[in-house]
Amino acid sequence: MKKEKYSFKSESKELLNLMIHSLYSNKEIFIRELISNASDAIEKDRFINVSQNNSNDLKKNYEIKINLDEKENKIKIKDNGIGMDKNEIIKNLGTIAKSGTKSFIKSIKNNKNNNLIGKFGVGFYSSFIVSKKVYVKTKSVKNKDKNTGIIWKSKGNGEYTVEKIKKKNTGTEIILFLKNSEKYFTNYYNIERIIKKYSDHINIPIKIKRYNEKNKKNVWKQINSAKSIWTIDKKNIDKYEYISFYKYITNDTNNPITWIHSKVEGNQEYISLLYIPSKAPWDIWNREQNKGLKLYINKVYIMDNVEQFLPNYLRFVKGIVDSKDLPLNISREILQENKNINIIKKTITKKILNVLKNINTYKYEIFWKEFGAIIKEGIAEDIENKENIAKLLLFSSLKTKNKNTYISLKKYIKNIKSDQKKIYFITADNYKTAKNSPHLEMFKKKDIDVLILHERIDEWMMNYLTEFKGIQFQSVNKFDESLNKIINSKDKKNKESNTKLKDLIKKIEKILFNKIKKVRITYRFSETPAALTTDSNEMSTQMAKLFSAAGQKVPKIKYIFEINPDHKLIKKISKIKNKKDIKTWIKMLFDQALLNEKGSLQEPNKFIKRVNSLLIKQTSKKNSL
Ligand code: ADP
Ligand code: MG
Repeated sequence: MKKEKYSFKSESKELLNLMIHSLYSNKEIFIRELISNASDAIEKDRFINVSQNNSNDLKKNYEIKINLDEKENKIKIKDNGIGMDKNEIIKNLGTIAKSGTKSFIKSIKNNKNNNLIGKFGVGFYSSFIVSKKVYVKTKSVKNKDKNTGIIWKSKGNGEYTVEKIKKKNTGTEIILFLKNSEKYFTNYYNIERIIKKYSDHINIPIKIKRYNEKNKKNVWKQINSAKSIWTIDKKNIDKYEYISFYKYITNDTNNPITWIHSKVEGNQEYISLLYIPSKAPWDIWNREQNKGLKLYINKVYIMDNVEQFLPNYLRFVKGIVDSKDLPLNISREILQENKNINIIKKTITKKILNVLKNINTYKYEIFWKEFGAIIKEGIAEDIENKENIAKLLLFSSLKTKNKNTYISLKKYIKNIKSDQKKIYFITADNYKTAKNSPHLEMFKKKDIDVLILHERIDEWMMNYLTEFKGIQFQSVNKFDESLNKIINSKDKKNKESNTKLKDLIKKIEKILFNKIKKVRITYRFSETPAALTTDSNEMSTQMAKLFSAAGQKVPKIKYIFEINPDHKLIKKISKIKNKKDIKTWIKMLFDQALLNEKGSLQEPNKFIKRVNSLLIKQTSKKNSL
């Protein structure tokens, strides 16, 4: 094979430049990336050997060896892993837009926040941050030819070459020709520190060649601890080791909130080490997000991102599962159907819910701000654990100070009034709209607390959350008798005004006949003349909004138009005789109520016109007086 020249796929130059530029302050991560690749390659080889029971190769001494050359300003990183053949190297190293790199580039383009950097697996190309030239010598384990391998060379400028070389051992050796400015990375102590920081938990010995003054000889010194921390007895692992393992598997720079390390024996034997992060990853709402746990079988790494161990609403949990009983050749498809996986999932879910319940309030609120909206999905997703998930929910309420102070359902129930039969809640687009809704006026007066739900998912969740500890939920946006019982004190005075208003009600029903279901008198409001509610069997406004935002057709909601007989405006309108005038007033009131309920109007210009015409009439009357 002669030397062959290729160019990188996609706009490699631009991508490389962008990456090098934005990672510059954190360039040491290239070590982490290359070691992670070497370790992956070794794990792949180990896996093949274990699953095929190659007794010869089982004895293979896997290691990653690093050679620092201060004189030549070079670094070599060598592994005895799976290696690559020609096609593989072209496919793997010829495409810059690999998963990690691509999402990294996307996020730095959208987000100038440098905190994100370091959380990504940016991959092989990070070596060009510090190198003017990179060689990759490799030989695939599939290659039966005794002496040949290939060499890949590139200056990171859009092109690379591939040619045959002599190579005896299988595996890969990366040679970095460092830029003159990067001598720092040929120093033993610097590299030792970086490896300890990022790669201590790699399950394979990482060794650096050192000159030993005493023996006047070069020796290989192991830098990392290379132990599978989850297999060690809890008693012998300290907090810092747990945290550093978390950082290693997630690339998260924040400490986790807590972790659960447990060994399950019996029918299904496995160990799990699960972490609750304190910060949501940048892509938590991204469907293609890397979710799931790492799977090991008897300490052999099998695969990443196994989603089957976690319900979707716990997708933020990170960690590993090491099973004793699963077959090594398990595939993602088999995982999906495997009954044992489901059993593990159930146990893990219970454990996580339990640990969340017991986190102290301060930490739990931090957690809730990051992941609360995801936990809420569980109410619909996990019927079996619904009650336990409901216990985890936090809400702002009429009585909490602001949007970021919370009350749990347990606390709400504790403070419930003696004649209060239901748990009241209001849903709206945002906290402020909800908090200022006319529906809450009477609750404020009567000192009854109402949960304020203002997240997108809330309306949907409340379809599944119908009761808590036997007490039903009730939306204050919907008409309900129990609500009326608390609020409408039906004394004589009320009855009087009811009869007085009969005329007005008839007129309203006539004018708004195609817009509303009926008119009803209410004493729920003090400052609001009129408002809209829906019948309990009607779709709520918030739900209708969600549907139409998702591009679905929604039936037109027929509202109940509620008027407040004690309000000055209603009193005044009931006395107006002129037919045209009364029509304008009523339509204006309806639009007002609609605005309060929906936050927007279909034809705001008409509303403004009506208001203006009424204003002009009022002011000109005054002037003439
Ligand atoms: P990622 O590791 O996220 O897949 P990288 O850019 O780090 O992305 O590596 C690209 C690919 O190159 C790897 O997926 C792997 O197939 C191959 N590769 C890189 N380094 C090695 C190595 N030391 N041995 C074998 N294959 C490697
Ligand atoms: Mg990689």
